[in-house]
Amino acid sequence: MIDTPKDLYDGVILDHSKEPRNFGPLTNPSHYADGRNPICGDEIAVFLQTKGDAFSAFAFSGQGCAISKASASLMTEDLRNRPTEQAKERAIEILQALGQEVNGDPFERYGDLGALTAVRRYPARLKCATLAWHTFLAALAGEATASTEKPK
Ligand code: ZN
Repeated sequence: MIDTPKDLYDGVILDHSKEPRNFGPLTNPSHYADGRNPICGDEIAVFLQTKGDAFSAFAFSGQGCAISKASASLMTEDLRNRPTEQAKERAIEILQALGQEVNGDPFERYGDLGALTAVRRYPARLKCATLAWHTFLAALAGEATASTEKPK
């Protein structure tokens, strides 16, 4: 695993990496995907249970660096109460925002997710932050796997 620069350990990142929310596999998910970021060694699995156009359960498991875990935890909190289609649009929006220029959008409107902004200064860590979101989109699309090294 790659060492994390100190200023990436923002309070929110530290909190979510130490005490990840919605952590642990679901036994019978309606949607599931395994995500890997081979560059850092992060592995994140996303488990979803949909009910109509909503999520009745939304969880992740896996192991990896603080950034990958915190991003996954923040993602579950941000998406789990949204309608499925809106959650998909939100994930695409966040992925685009993470890929923006360092001095671009300050991310303030994303609340706690704004803590992920710091990774934009460290391109090597970007994939740690985006892994969970790619994995969520793969799960929702019915794909079993996602990799930061095979963008669609
Ligand atoms: Zn990582």
